[in-house]
This record gives sequence, C-alpha cells and structure tokens, in this order.
Amino acid sequence: MTKIGLEIHCQLTNLESKLFCTCKANYREFEINENICPICMGLPGSLPRLNQEAVKKATIIAMALNCTTPDKIAFFRKNYFYPDLPKNFQITQLNIYGDTSIGGTGSVTIGDKEIRIRRIQLEEDPGRLIYEGSSSKNLITLVDYNRAGTPLVEIVTEPDFESPKQVREFVNILSDLLENLGVSDPGLDGAMRADANVSIEGGKKVEIKNIDSFHDLEKAVHFEITRQESLHSRDIQIIQETRHWDEKRKITVSSRSKEEDLDYRYFLEGDIPWIIIDPEMHKELKSKMPESISSKKERYISQFDIPAQVADVLSSDKFYSDLFEESHTKDNAKEIANIITTDLMGLVDTREKREESKITATHLKDLSDSIQSGKISRNSAKNALYEIVKTGNDLSQVISKLDLGNVSDESELSEIIQKVISEESQAVKEAKSNPQTINYLVGKVMQKTKGKADPKLTLDLLKKQIG
Ligand SMILES: [Zn+2]
Repeated sequence: MTKIGLEIHCQLTNLESKLFCTCKANYREFEINENICPICMGLPGSLPRLNQEAVKKATIIAMALNCTTPDKIAFFRKNYFYPDLPKNFQITQLNIYGDTSIGGTGSVTIGDKEIRIRRIQLEEDPGRLIYEGSSSKNLITLVDYNRAGTPLVEIVTEPDFESPKQVREFVNILSDLLENLGVSDPGLDGAMRADANVSIEGGKKVEIKNIDSFHDLEKAVHFEITRQESLHSRDIQIIQETRHWDEKRKITVSSRSKEEDLDYRYFLEGDIPWIIIDPEMHKELKSKMPESISSKKERYISQFDIPAQVADVLSSDKFYSDLFEESHTKDNAKEIANIITTDLMGLVDTREKREESKITATHLKDLSDSIQSGKISRNSAKNALYEIVKTGNDLSQVISKLDLGNVSDESELSEIIQKVISEESQAVKEAKSNPQTINYLVGKVMQKTKGKADPKLTLDLLKKQIG
C-alpha cells in the first residue's frame, strides 16, 4: 500500500509586511537584496516583532481546514546552517509542549476520502538561492535575501494519500480555498511549495524536498512511487533518506540522509514570548470567515437555478466569483454566469490576461441587461466582451463603435420581414399550418440582418404579418 504525506508551504502573499519586521511581504517587486533590514538579516542586537495580521491570516486558514485553534502559541528556533538562512536559524513552530502551533489537528474531505491535517504552523521563509548553471553542476550560487522573513504557513498532513491523483485533487482544492480566503495568491511564482513523504508496502519513508510548484508535485510523487516499486520488485532495500526534486530532469535525486528533529536543536525562541490569543479574536475571525466555496456553489444552484457544473467552475475561482457577486441580481444571475463561464473564461485564460483585462462588474451587468432586453444578440455580446476586455470602454460605446446593436426599430425590421415574406412564399404558406416553419423564417431575417434582428420583435412582427 502506498502512503503519501504532504507538507505544504504557502506564503501569506496578501500581507503588507514580513513576519517579524516591517520589510515588505511582497518581495517580488524589489531589486535583489533591497528588501532587507537588521531584523530579517538577524544582525546582532536586532529583535523580532510578531506581525499580528499574519497570526490572524494563519488562524483563518486553520479554521477553514477544520483545525483546532490553541489559545496559546509559541515560537521555536530551528537551527541549521545554510546560505539562504542569514540568522543560522529559522523561527518556526513545534508542538513539543502540547498544541502550541497556530493550528492543531483538522481535516479536509476530497470526494469521500478524508485527509487528516496534523498541524499548521506559522514560520518565516528563508532567502532565495539563485544557481548559475544546472543544480547538479553549479559554478556559482547567489543569494537574494529579499524573501527572508516572508510569512509562511506550513500545512502538514497525515500520510493519508494513496495516489498521486489524490495529491493533485487535494492541492487543487487547497489552492482554491486559500485564494477564496483572501490570504494568498497561489498563482504567484513560488507562493506555494511542497515537500512530500512517500512509502510503499510499509517500507521506509522517503522525503522529497524542494518541489517548487504544485504542478510538479504530482509528477514528483509519481516518479518516487515508481522508483520505490522498481527497487521493491528487485528485492533491493529502500533506505530512509531525503531526496530533492530536480525540476529540469523531472526526477528525484538523493541529497543527504534524513535529519531527525534532534539535529535541528529546536528550542523556544527567547526573543518572542508565548502569545496568548484573545478568545474574542477567534470569535471575530470566525464570524468574518468568507463564505466557503462549497456553500457558494450550493447557493448558486438553489437560488439562481444555475447548472451544477457551471456553479462548480464559477464558485471555485475567486476572480470570477467576485465578478459574479458584484454584478448579479436575481434576474440576471443565470445570464451573467453564462457570460462568465462560456465566454469570459476563454478570453482571460492566463494570469497575465486576467491582470491586463479591463472588465468590471458594471460591464457584465450592462451586457446581461442588453441581452435580456433584446438590445444586442448573444453573438454580438461575445464580440462586445472581447472589445471590453481589451479596452475597458462602456458597453454603449462598444456597441456603436462596432455597430453591434440589434435592429429593433419596428419599421426598419418590418421592411426586412416583408422582403423575406415575398421571397419565401412557400414557407409562408406552410407557416400558417405548421408553427415550426416560422422559426425558419426568423432564421432568414437573422441572415439578412447578420444576426442583429431583435429575435422577440422579429417573431411578433412575423406572426402579425403572416396573419
Ligand atoms: Zn526586514
């Protein structure tokens, strides 16, 4: 039997500052080694000051994953020497004095499988190593400390996964959940990383480190299972070790024998006292929890009669569900859900396109109103949407610029209908006895108007003129 456990590292990207100093949490916008100070560089005499917002955001994650939330938390020093760690220790959390990390045990359900969470801890991210050349043959290694001290939440699961597929489903659900909570932007480069431990047939546990994207996690786990199965089938013993994921070659490579907790000489961080969490803070956070993805989905289905599959896609992505929430009314909800899932998602299908997109909730509202009132056709709405995403212009401007408006002027439309009636005398005759044929005539009017005839008005006028 295969057992897989995960340690997910998630940066709290939506915070203003780092975990223990006032440097920016958004280190990505800085030149190398410009987002640093004596605290995050661990210079002698500097003292850490805990970012309260980080405690709140991490607690929200713990609550969303159904974890217990201790009323007293502690920080520990994890000692090790590595160039990306300027202090030679990382401030993190550990549960040796009972549950003192930000979140205790919890669980997440994927389908009918329950994945238990062992704990959630708040810690600081190390700096970033930049290798010149491939990681196996480095000529030069450079260090950028801009990331050092960035707030990181580590989510540790029990070894409850049995396949790479379950791992992938879990991280997909988790990254949607974190985005929905407004604590992290999982799409940012390096915002989500993972370690995985894998064992087969009750054998020794192998830990895979440095999986820098969720995309590679499933591949890394899959590779490691295959490697162990191959050894097992040849009666070669699997040794307990740490391997790292080589993202270029897509294989795991033995890096060093596994360190035990003892090797890290954990001890309480003397510069940060035990933090007593005010129960009022827990209460307040709980009351302000954003609506969960599953409850949003249920609501879209029951309140607006949106098909389950559409509701699923719409609710699981914060960018789209926020747009939907801001633009919909009871009457246009279905139409807007339709515009978002069938047209908009195709137009802004990458992170860059989303960021460049000029679409607002008002645009969506105007679009659905115009479709429903017959001002423009669905087909024209699609063209208008393309222009709006690009330019951000008002719908009315776009309609007149691209001449997308429906022909809804009665006399203009009557003229066109007269023409169709004279050209299609056979069909007109049939239409009197067979109402289905009238749709054919509507189609002819649409052809003449390049799809811009107001469909409702066309039908009414046709019926009247045929008599
Ligand atoms: Zn700093």
